[in-house]
Amino acid sequence: MGIRYDWQEAEIRAIYDTPMLELIYQAASIHREFHDSRKIQVCKLVSIKTGACPEDCSYCAQSSRYKTEVKPQSLLDKQTVINIAKQAKESGVSRVCMGAAWREVRDNSQFEQVLEMVKEVTALDLEVCCTLGMLNQSQAKRLEDAGLYAYNHNLDTSQDYYSTIITTRTYGDRLNTINNVRQTNVTVCSGGILGLGESVDDRVSMLCTLSNLQPHPESVPINILSQVEGTPLENQPDVPIWEVIRMIATARIIMPKSDVRLSAGRSRLSQIEQAMCFMAGANSIFSSDDGHMLTVTTPCPGYDSDQEMLNLLGLSMRESKANQGQRLKVKG
Ligand code: SAM
Ligand code: SF4
Repeated sequence: MGIRYDWQEAEIRAIYDTPMLELIYQAASIHREFHDSRKIQVCKLVSIKTGACPEDCSYCAQSSRYKTEVKPQSLLDKQTVINIAKQAKESGVSRVCMGAAWREVRDNSQFEQVLEMVKEVTALDLEVCCTLGMLNQSQAKRLEDAGLYAYNHNLDTSQDYYSTIITTRTYGDRLNTINNVRQTNVTVCSGGILGLGESVDDRVSMLCTLSNLQPHPESVPINILSQVEGTPLENQPDVPIWEVIRMIATARIIMPKSDVRLSAGRSRLSQIEQAMCFMAGANSIFSSDDGHMLTVTTPCPGYDSDQEMLNLLGLSMRESKANQGQRLKVKG
């Protein structure tokens, strides 16, 4: 099966509605055509600037609009980030994701410091991903020159539902930043969140938008809402695991070469639930030493428990592609 960029919502919905075990089987088969199914990429998220974000993303612990337990923290110094990256690498991490709770990048000394962090962590033979908010083309180019491997900018949900979740920017703003990144050889990481109150149609619509981007995002995070106290979505019900598996399997089938990342919310899943996500084509996870990811209120499992689970499942950690000269551009 080739890679398509013209998926229609009706086709994607039909895939999504496939009887569960048949859907998992189809996704698992396609996964094996494009990936080594025994390899899982382990990533580490470093919040390099935490909290006090002016945006109003209704799920986010870092928004200044909501009273959450997050304590704002200014930009970390470069050496601290390098030390965290070195420790993560020793635990098998091959991708370090640096997140800054900014609306957008500004051409100032803080961006210069981030560029230095990108350079030095890349030099450790780690894939570096940044998620810094909105970017213009020249900023994307400067990140490319610094050796950045990927830029994360999630669509989060459908265009129709987006304004229910976020009002301080538009879907078009998101697509514009993704397009700016696409003018460089930096790969794109873009996916969404389940559990925002969206409909299945919204999930399908988001997958349709992502799978009509050419090339596909090289990395597609599937987040499960972690309900954060103090945010508008704090009382949202948990997403049933079978809906997570349907989303992963459908993403795998329509974007076969992309990495599908089982991201936020994984700490709530049992080993067998995670195993089913891997069977459905998820091939990346976030791990950590301090039990925290996204922000200090959104936990993720630790390296040791993850290593134990991967061993149990006969899986191993994927090596970094940072300096193999190959940008995993998903070409047709
Ligand atoms: N500031 C970045 C931006 O808005 O592009 C995002 C930083 S955050 C580390 C990366 C992603 O994590 C967000 O785009 C969102 O999809 C996801 N995320 C954030 N808070 C979450 C939560 N409480 N539950 C699930 N996913 C969450
Ligand atoms: Fe800010 Fe990003 Fe959180 Fe939105 S998701 S509030 S932009 S840190």
